[in-house]
Amino acid sequence: MSPAKIRTSEELVDYAATLDCIHCGLCLETCPTYQLTGVETSSPRGRIHLMRAVAENNLVPDDAYRDEMEFCLVCRHCESVCPAGVRMGEMMSVARDSMHEDAPRSLGVRLARWLGFRVLLPNRAALRISGSLLRFAQKSGLLRWLAEHSPVAREQFAALAALPTVAPANLRRMLPARSPAIGSHSSSQTSVVSMFEGCVMPELYSQVNRATETVLTRLGAEVCTNPAAVCCGALHAHNGDLAGARSLAQKLINAYEPRESTEDSASTPIVVNSAGCSAHMKELAHLFDSADPWHARAEALAKRIVDFSEYVAPRLAEEQPDLRLDLSAPITWDNPCHLCHGQSIREQPLDILRSIDFGSNAFVELEGSESCCGSAGIYSALRPQDSADILDPKLDALKDSGAKLLITSNPGCQMQWQSGIRRRGLDVEVKHLAEVLDDALSRSVPESELDANERGE
Ligand code: SF4
Ligand code: SF4
Repeated sequence: MSPAKIRTSEELVDYAATLDCIHCGLCLETCPTYQLTGVETSSPRGRIHLMRAVAENNLVPDDAYRDEMEFCLVCRHCESVCPAGVRMGEMMSVARDSMHEDAPRSLGVRLARWLGFRVLLPNRAALRISGSLLRFAQKSGLLRWLAEHSPVAREQFAALAALPTVAPANLRRMLPARSPAIGSHSSSQTSVVSMFEGCVMPELYSQVNRATETVLTRLGAEVCTNPAAVCCGALHAHNGDLAGARSLAQKLINAYEPRESTEDSASTPIVVNSAGCSAHMKELAHLFDSADPWHARAEALAKRIVDFSEYVAPRLAEEQPDLRLDLSAPITWDNPCHLCHGQSIREQPLDILRSIDFGSNAFVELEGSESCCGSAGIYSALRPQDSADILDPKLDALKDSGAKLLITSNPGCQMQWQSGIRRRGLDVEVKHLAEVLDDALSRSVPESELDANERGE
């Protein structure tokens, strides 16, 4: 066994990146953790200062340092306003990776990380079994009992209990390998796309994947899925497991690289309906040194990644279907951090919503729709109180807006909103953008254009 590599203090963080910060403080008011505490060390500038102090040997990375790094949501809101182009997401990945490799962790934490990151997320069979076990624990009341009475990890069981109800196995099936386009479209609208199904999406939000596939086919795309593509590794990269993130990136690159046995060509777009995944997949090359051959292969894959809204908005604009969705109350949109701050995608989801006639029920703005909801991957499970405190002002804004349907486009945000809305006892439904558009499109596509499957024959 080779000895563990001893890192220099500069290697514990991305030292060169920390030097980009010019200390202007423009980021402070955007930072949810700074808003919560008002303490400089909980701000983007403060965290960069701490990282730099570690690199320059002025600070030993102690528990307080680690806590500030883990308090960050990696929401990247600071990146959107930073005049110096600071890349907090990348910096935090490096800082957390060294923390988890070098800091002593309890056996329980190491076991949970190994099970979650190395066994469960990369493995479709393990995900499928976990979906069934979770459904059993939900239906039997076991999860609720553990959340209330377990002598250990009660907060984590409570976080699991807040997950959406897992659908029966027949509704959690994976999408077909190939789904033809529905209806007639101009040739410019007919295309082949690959759709990334994700790791937890088929287990927790299978209806969102089905809606995404149906929307794409109704807009003239032939949709292919790739069973070899399971997890993109975003959760690993954000939570201090860069080795796991690299390994999953390599699997993803291999899965999507064009070869005769797959549907993928070098120009086939890969549509991703989870903002956290699309943001990470567009930046896969950052995981590899520029001299590493995987870097160029990751860049080639990243060029093909398109977020759902990015793919759909221009096609809707060209096709201009007559979309109506009469709802009984106003709707609103909450932009996931990794869509607006991670990918600068702001107008496309709004264009999609503007293309739907919601009748007398107006679209209402949600105050702070670009601020983090506190979901942040597994943050809501690791720091449930901080996560709930960050969501609280957003729940106030939602209540004030009067909306009864909140639309977003990331599974973590959907879960976080659903659990907060339940906790507050608000009467608001949460849906993915694809589900809303699917509803509207299904009312606009003539019956004659639907195939037998669509009509349920
Ligand atoms: S990523 Fe979000 S939580 Fe972290 S420092 Fe930036 S704004 Fe604050
Ligand atoms: S906005 Fe950017 S440059 Fe200014 S303090 Fe924040 S991180 Fe540093």
